[in-house]
Amino acid sequence: MTLSLEGRLALVTGASRGIGRAVALELAGAGAHVVALARTQGALEELDDDIRRLGGEATLVPCDVKDSEAIDRLGAALHDRWGHLDILVANAGVLGPITPIGHVDPKQWDNVLAVNLTANYRLLRSLDPLLRASDAGRVVFVSSGAGHRAEMRPYWGPYAITKAALDAMARTYAAETATTSNVVVTVVNPGPLRTRMRAAAMPGEDPESLKTPEDLAPVLVALCAPEHRDTGKLYDFPTDRMLSFQGPA
Ligand code: NAP
Repeated sequence: MTLSLEGRLALVTGASRGIGRAVALELAGAGAHVVALARTQGALEELDDDIRRLGGEATLVPCDVKDSEAIDRLGAALHDRWGHLDILVANAGVLGPITPIGHVDPKQWDNVLAVNLTANYRLLRSLDPLLRASDAGRVVFVSSGAGHRAEMRPYWGPYAITKAALDAMARTYAAETATTSNVVVTVVNPGPLRTRMRAAAMPGEDPESLKTPEDLAPVLVALCAPEHRDTGKLYDFPTDRMLSFQGPA
């Protein structure tokens, strides 16, 4: 059966390329109105053209996720126009420097934290009431296995640290919304996918050996449907498993 998200309202951050773009197209193809956020306006306009070709509709938000006031204004604008938000795909992210932790430039440190972590907190701060106002608010945080495998990823400090913290934020939000709302929260580990970020991280790798954002998109979008009700879990795309977070024994 084809998934229908007819009439649902979805915000995707980092929608200009890579995973976010593929997810935005998949959501629109399933009938959702997509609010597409990224900095690169031209790429958002190309996405808009592609969504229209599918018979879908999009609203473009060219902005930097670090612009907290813009994120607050976005929440107010969504409230005024729709009064709720059904789907948030918090996907925008940066790799940051690959270098020993003690060598990380403070400005780069601040930037990775601002994009990968603080921006997602500001999104929740702005959008939580709208997600709770939905009859089935669905939030997907696009994270990474790097946060769980820090000992196997020396030199990836800022990225791994922010993704581990993002997972903790997602679990906190899942716990806060579980019994007081219809919001369901999922963390997704995409695994290695053929995108610009992966190419920057692994320049020697053959991109053709990797799965693509288009492979992930239908699976991720299924987690945005009202039928998906399992909150506070980690979906691991490489193994196609829904995992529970585990503490120390
Ligand atoms: P990508 O191709 O580099 O795309 C990143 C997206 O984030 C772009 O749309 C970019 O848009 C947006 N973005 C970055 N900084 C932003 C900012 N300050 N404000 C607004 N938007 C911003 O990377 P990707 O591989 O698709 O990554 C997407 C997510 O998947 C990230 O969170 C990443 O950590 C995660 N992930 C990827 C892989 C992988 O193998 N690809 C593996 C694990 C996790 P603009 O530049 O237009 O702003």
